[in-house]
Amino acid sequence: MRVTVIGTGYVGLVSGVCLAAKGHTVICVDRNPEIVATLARGVPHIHERGLPALLTECLAAGRFSATADLEAALAGSDGVIVAVGTPSENGVIDLTYVREAARQVGRFIGSVERFVPVIVKSTVIAGTTDTVVREEIERASGKRLGQFGLGMNPEFLREGEAIEDFMQPDRIVLGHEDEGTLAFLEELYAPWPVDKLRVNCRTAELIKYSNNAMLALQISAVNEIANLAAALGGIDILDVMKGVHLDKRWSPIEGERRISPHILTYLIPGCGFGGSCFPKDVQALRSQGEQLGQEMAILNGVLSVNAAQPDQVVATLRRELGALSGRRCLVLGLAFKPETDDVRESASFPIVRGLLSEGAEVVAHDPIAAEPFRKAFGEIPLRLRFADRWQEEVAGADIVVIATKWDEYRAVAGCDLAGKALFDARRLLSPEQAGGARYLSIGRRL
Ligand code: NAD
Repeated sequence: MRVTVIGTGYVGLVSGVCLAAKGHTVICVDRNPEIVATLARGVPHIHERGLPALLTECLAAGRFSATADLEAALAGSDGVIVAVGTPSENGVIDLTYVREAARQVGRFIGSVERFVPVIVKSTVIAGTTDTVVREEIERASGKRLGQFGLGMNPEFLREGEAIEDFMQPDRIVLGHEDEGTLAFLEELYAPWPVDKLRVNCRTAELIKYSNNAMLALQISAVNEIANLAAALGGIDILDVMKGVHLDKRWSPIEGERRISPHILTYLIPGCGFGGSCFPKDVQALRSQGEQLGQEMAILNGVLSVNAAQPDQVVATLRRELGALSGRRCLVLGLAFKPETDDVRESASFPIVRGLLSEGAEVVAHDPIAAEPFRKAFGEIPLRLRFADRWQEEVAGADIVVIATKWDEYRAVAGCDLAGKALFDARRLLSPEQAGGARYLSIGRRL
């Protein structure tokens, strides 16, 4: 099939390249000419494992192209996927880009005779596609739903594992308002023999939000219990969670075998969730509920536990080591999670700010996210600097904080950390691997 994807960020670009890799002909459209130019050269503007090779392959096969000319792209396509950003504005999603894309597509639909299915892939709150998007297209095209198609196909990919997630999804949700759009989606996703849910658009939208809200709920629930364990003392929360995880409702037993022998990452405590999705999506779901007169008590709790969680790092260091003023602190990891250069809502911001406000000197490192972090941080104080090679900074540090679970930080275990403190906020290492340092973490006070 020939498909136009509007918006070439993490979701649009990965979707476009993966659909092309499966045999479709994809044109990715972005309003940012720099993105279009670099993509045409085969260089992705985002960091995602496996993406450069797949992009090069699809460009060479003639199945992928990028342009800023939406009309030309639509003219040669069987359907369109909208994957523009939906940023958060005071906890509510901003639909400016979605509305604009819908109007642009609507104008095109008004100018052609054929049926064009429009699929929303951006994360939008339940009831957006079948109202806001539909109305924008109807107004701009002068046509009614049925003369064009409407679908909602939420995306569940995780940054850092986006290609793998798109290529091997656990399910695909085919939200649709009409049979023509369902037929389009069925053909689009025919190369993926996985569980497919055929639902209306607002159900598809709520599946996406519920999914993120339930995962965020696990994280905040574990973090709250971890903080209690630390307050009690004599407990390592990881032992507690191993005990919880062996419940057969978390890790079922089939015959003699555990289905998931490794503790789920969402049950490992840390310094909170970040990124461009969880915080924004949980806030948006809460706002929608409140607007509809629902209390949303659990989501309020999820967000307030999460907002306070990075402070545990500084509070624990202060409690265990005393005043931090004048101490040098090496912060390892600035991205919100490993394998990405995305720093949106990264817990490293409050951790670095908290350390600075305690008077510590901070040396920060990330394999690929230092530059975006520096840009987003604002004015860089004298007591904060960025290091290219963390290995060279260990000797001069009093405290090492692992804030992002990058694999390369496992090598901390081989360093001489005698006389230092190691705060492993992500449980990357075991206490025995602390290189002689005093091992500190979330939910552990022995
Ligand atoms: P992004 O901000 O990285 O990219 C959006 C792109 O859309 C930008 O490059 C922008 O220039 C472009 N754009 C905006 N309006 C346009 C228009 N009218 N025409 C052409 N281009 C336009 O966003 P993202 O992270 O890819 O997220 C996109 C959507 O997918 C959001 O709703 C997000 O919540 C959702 N989502 C994101 C992830 C993730 O991991 N990033 C995962 C699942 C779902």
